[in-house]
Amino acid sequence: MALLRVEGLKTYFKTMSGYVKAVDGVSFEVEGGKATGLAGESGCGKTTVALSILRILPFNGEIRDGKIMFKGRDLLKLDEDEVREEIRWKEISIVFQGAMNALNPVYTVADQMVEAIMVHEPDVTRKEALERCAKLMELVGIDPSRINNYPHEFSGGMRQRAMIAMALACNPSILIADEPSTALDVIVAAQVLKLLKELKMKLNLGMILITHDLSIIAELCEKTAIMYAGKIVEYGDVVAIFKEPLHPYTQGLISAFPNITGKRQKLVSIPGAPPDLLAPPPGCRFHPRCNYAKGKCKIEEPAFIEISKGHYVACHKVESEFYGKKW
Ligand code: SF4
Repeated sequence: MALLRVEGLKTYFKTMSGYVKAVDGVSFEVEGGKATGLAGESGCGKTTVALSILRILPFNGEIRDGKIMFKGRDLLKLDEDEVREEIRWKEISIVFQGAMNALNPVYTVADQMVEAIMVHEPDVTRKEALERCAKLMELVGIDPSRINNYPHEFSGGMRQRAMIAMALACNPSILIADEPSTALDVIVAAQVLKLLKELKMKLNLGMILITHDLSIIAELCEKTAIMYAGKIVEYGDVVAIFKEPLHPYTQGLISAFPNITGKRQKLVSIPGAPPDLLAPPPGCRFHPRCNYAKGKCKIEEPAFIEISKGHYVACHKVESEFYGKKW
């Protein structure tokens, strides 16, 4: 059963030139002990989805529509105090992109973790918080005796692990990891991803993994949502999508990625660039870059239809192939 269900989420940013439709009708689910990946090019709205779930949008961000159902409650109906006191950190926490640089250099790692715990759980004493920190450090593979070190005494990988530990400090049900391995070298990145995979199973954590790197999705996630220009164009089981990607954009992303196990083949990039979300193209937003686009694609937005159990695609071509609908 889904722990978190995002339904028809729309988040826009107000600018001097109009509204940027960063997230425009996004729906997906996260289950306990499983990871859902949000994948797509930069600027497709992945991080905005995360900021909307935690209600930490910048001042010009507005959630226009949708529901974010978590444990029977719509998070969008809670007021700011309820979200701060009951949801952020305690139920849903986030490791931001480049989080390892977010540690304050003038405080020890222990001080920063203790503060995070005591702010969210005022009844916890400093001694108890310190004990919890030591356990969390052990959980993420850092010698607990290092908690009194300053961030500069940690390597990049250790700082990233410390940030993951901090995000887990209040025992959340869901962890959002935004590009968790960016800026790490490949060996350390692999260790951090392995850690996330272990934590997901050990703590029965629901996870939202935001990345542009499809290999991370393949390694860590059970489900994935492929996002393009603020919309999900394909969603479903990771194995099914990687085995037989149906949406032309998903096919393009997979073809642009090296396959280390299959035959050597030429990588093909997707021509063009994502659209300006101030004025996205009418019809299918991918049509200016799609090799299969026809007249209908330029006028009518494709519906998000279920092709097989739990596998959804928004494309006129796919709809016509599976349901014989004229396009
Ligand atoms: Fe391409 Fe048309 Fe499908 Fe959009 S709806 S992905 S333009 S075929």
